[in-house]
Amino acid sequence: MSWVRDPEFDRKKPFGPQTLPYGVVDAGAGPQVAVRAGDHALLLRSVAGELGRLADLVSGTSLDPLLAATRAEWSALRARLTDLVTGTGRPAGAVLVPLADVRALLPFTVGDYVDFYCSRYHAENVGRIMRPGAEPLLPNWTHLPVGYHGRSGTVVVSGTDVVRPHGQRKGSPLPQFGPSGRLDVEAEVGFVCGGPVARRVPTSGVADHIFGVVLVNDWSARDIQGWEYQPLGPFLGKSFATSVSAWVTPLEALAVARIPVPDPGHPRLPYLVEDSPWGLDLRLTLSWNGTVVSRPQFSDMSYSCAQQLAHMTVNGATVRPGDLFASGTVSGPDVGQRGCFLELSWGGREKITLADGSTRTFLEDGDTVVITATAPGEDGSVVGLAEVAGTVLPAED
Ligand code: MN
Repeated sequence: MSWVRDPEFDRKKPFGPQTLPYGVVDAGAGPQVAVRAGDHALLLRSVAGELGRLADLVSGTSLDPLLAATRAEWSALRARLTDLVTGTGRPAGAVLVPLADVRALLPFTVGDYVDFYCSRYHAENVGRIMRPGAEPLLPNWTHLPVGYHGRSGTVVVSGTDVVRPHGQRKGSPLPQFGPSGRLDVEAEVGFVCGGPVARRVPTSGVADHIFGVVLVNDWSARDIQGWEYQPLGPFLGKSFATSVSAWVTPLEALAVARIPVPDPGHPRLPYLVEDSPWGLDLRLTLSWNGTVVSRPQFSDMSYSCAQQLAHMTVNGATVRPGDLFASGTVSGPDVGQRGCFLELSWGGREKITLADGSTRTFLEDGDTVVITATAPGEDGSVVGLAEVAGTVLPAED
């Protein structure tokens, strides 16, 4: 029996010893790197003496040194921490703090940020809603993972409030300006890059260059987006805020969840072929003011993180520790699997009823959205991705 006494620190629970995500918390003495055990944070500086030379990777105020390390070091640290938290005796000096008593901070310096568009169901639904009468998927979509470069400086940690953005929207005869009236979310999965700076990463090299996985809410102002996005893609309708989990689940924890992505129905270019599968069997929930409105499945995504990383670097562009890329909205074939309100309300035409009887199409001020996810782990265990939560604040004057 582990010295960590927490009913959530159980192999049947998402944050048992099979998960051990990393984060940065302030327990009153400034930011410290921590590993999550159930609903507690183990401050890693307090057990530095147990970690040998690996202590240097987690003794600072962010995950940046850990991300800049190597896959072999990530594995060694995870193995050592697994021993530490599952042992019967509390290591001398170990500080274990309830999550309720700490403030979780953005755990790493976000480098370049890319957002993909890899759900066929989402892409088809959005195509039908925004370009009615036209072919919903453009011809390139089944041949490459479509994406755009987002704004890393406005990536915020779960729990950060999001101010309703201002912007231009379509009007007649002239465009209108003001607070967005169609504020939306996108439930996505994000990949946190690490390891040596690299270019032209093959699909077989992904485990050396992805450290871990987070949930992402790609807040989206649909009225701003709809007016601005052609011909160069999303811009101010997306760049005001992107929320990520406070805890990064190591890629290594998801070994059992790996599955093939769906066959595109035609040959792939060689650089996008995988020699082993990197799709992930993650099950998401999307909650709106406490009501679960959708249960998207990441197994429906058409491209894996390995294919996304290979594509992103095939032209010679580098990937660096701290770079973040997100999957695109995770949507499935059923109405209850749509990962954004644009799809759930079919462009604002169909109301969504919440548990309190109120109805919504897009977000109202004060609304809170929470995304969670789990994956299958070893021996029937369940691996968690930490929630990403955010509340909408009214537009500024
Ligand atoms: Mn997105």
